[in-house]
Amino acid sequence: MSTETVEQQPVEIESSNGSEAGASAGSGAVESISVENPATGESVGSIEKLDADAVRALADAARAAQPGWSAIGFRARGAVFNRARRWLLDNRERFARTIIDETGKTNEDAGLELAVALESFAYWAKHAEKYLRDERISARSPMVLGRKVITRYEPVGLVGVIGPWNYPLVNAFCDCVPALMAGNSVLLKPSEVTPLTIFLVAEMMEASGLPKGVLGIATGDGETGAAMIDNVDYVMFTGSTATGRKVMERAARNLTPASLELGGKDPMIVLADANLERATNAAAYFSMNNGGQVCISVERVYVEEPIYDEFLAKVTEKVKALRQGPDSSPGSTEVGAVTFAPQLSIIEAHVADAVAKGAKIVTGGKRAEHGGGRYFEPTILVDVDHSMDCMTEETFGPTMPIMKVRDAEQAIELANDCKYGLQASVWTRDNARGEQIARRIEAGACLVNDAQINYAAFGAPMGGWKTSGVGSRHGSNGIRKYCKTQTLSVNRMPTKREPYMFPYSKRTTNLLNRATKFVHRRAG
Ligand code: NDP
Repeated sequence: MSTETVEQQPVEIESSNGSEAGASAGSGAVESISVENPATGESVGSIEKLDADAVRALADAARAAQPGWSAIGFRARGAVFNRARRWLLDNRERFARTIIDETGKTNEDAGLELAVALESFAYWAKHAEKYLRDERISARSPMVLGRKVITRYEPVGLVGVIGPWNYPLVNAFCDCVPALMAGNSVLLKPSEVTPLTIFLVAEMMEASGLPKGVLGIATGDGETGAAMIDNVDYVMFTGSTATGRKVMERAARNLTPASLELGGKDPMIVLADANLERATNAAAYFSMNNGGQVCISVERVYVEEPIYDEFLAKVTEKVKALRQGPDSSPGSTEVGAVTFAPQLSIIEAHVADAVAKGAKIVTGGKRAEHGGGRYFEPTILVDVDHSMDCMTEETFGPTMPIMKVRDAEQAIELANDCKYGLQASVWTRDNARGEQIARRIEAGACLVNDAQINYAAFGAPMGGWKTSGVGSRHGSNGIRKYCKTQTLSVNRMPTKREPYMFPYSKRTTNLLNRATKFVHRRAG
């Protein structure tokens, strides 16, 4: 990850309508929404809230542009994303500054977001065709002997992507990349809390040669998002489980398929033989990076009894050393602001609930103010249990509740005692045992001696079990979901009549029954 210095001036960005660019913002806005920097409280821009008519107009333009975009093929679409990579690198400071200004995150957290976006462009530019080329199906049934059977993928047409506020580039635009590479047009609804980065995306895609209308930016709030769902052929949503339910209900009205990446409560299981230095560094980082506002954050830690005291002492020392405040330059701070104002109350409520039920605060535990910004201190909680919200509900802040467990069996039981199932991690020097335990964890991904980094393995599906999601991003499903499948079957040796066709006769039926018995008796 590169960490170049970025200017500290706040950027004032206003959304523009009716862009002639490859990416277009809608027109017909009814009101404007202001955007603030959570690290300073300053206003950094404003956007227009598009109404249902404006969203429909954007959808019409996107549908009109889609056949041409689909027709140019994978190579030409890949070239657009390769040009976008260069544009992003040339404009890295503007991107980083905009992300930092609207989220309040650190330079390094923004840098990681940019690095992941670049990887995403490169991956899909190179691999989209491989996933979507025609597949020859081996038709072994005697009933289809002599037929050539093919599965092919056709873009759904118009994909709607709804993004959250924690990663305004990666969790919004990176889900558009495979949709676009598949030959779809896309409408993107960024979070009203952090919508400004997407205007740089629009500029980037225009400069990179994306045809006008193919990417529409639908700025606004939840109502704009709901209107968008009514107008698209597929919905990709990232955000809370509660809103995910609403999105799926809305999509069901038109039987529009949807993929949902929702909340998590990722457990970290630390076994007695773990490398303690790595485990404690990782616990501090993966629970507090991006201010703890990562859907795949470490949200709860289970430590085996023999190493519990040592683990706690080491991790406390590391968390106490973390610096918090507005980013001024690379390396200036580790834990950024709380991006979304209501989130501060949720974090506070989880800590208060834990303390009321007997938990102890080892460090942190309260709001912090740096300049005019909103922060929550990096916090460690102990003496926690599953009666407390901090162990069962998504906190989405810089908190680390740590629970002592008797053994690995108890850790697995507690890890699985949860309505969420996004990701998990196991920490041990015994990789084989770690893998065995990982296979018993009810989550879409479980890492051994790591957390979060599977997100950058774009060939591997990333999605949640239980209430953490429906469907997945990345891997083959990450692009095929944006397509309709079509089966082609070509009879290369057509006869006048198949034996099972009319008219029926006793002799032919008996013959077919005997043939069926012959084939299936031999099985197994
Ligand atoms: P939401 O799930 O409410 O918002 C996500 C996106 O959905 C935003 O663009 C939002 O628009 C939009 N939206 C809201 N209502 C609707 C609707 N009815 N139809 C269509 N789109 C809609 O997340 P919040 O911002 O409210 O965060 C709440 C919680 O979500 C957090 O506490 C955290 O636990 C979790 N979260 C999870 C994330 C993840 O990566 N999985 C990311 C962010 C939050 P708008 O912002 O304009 O309201």
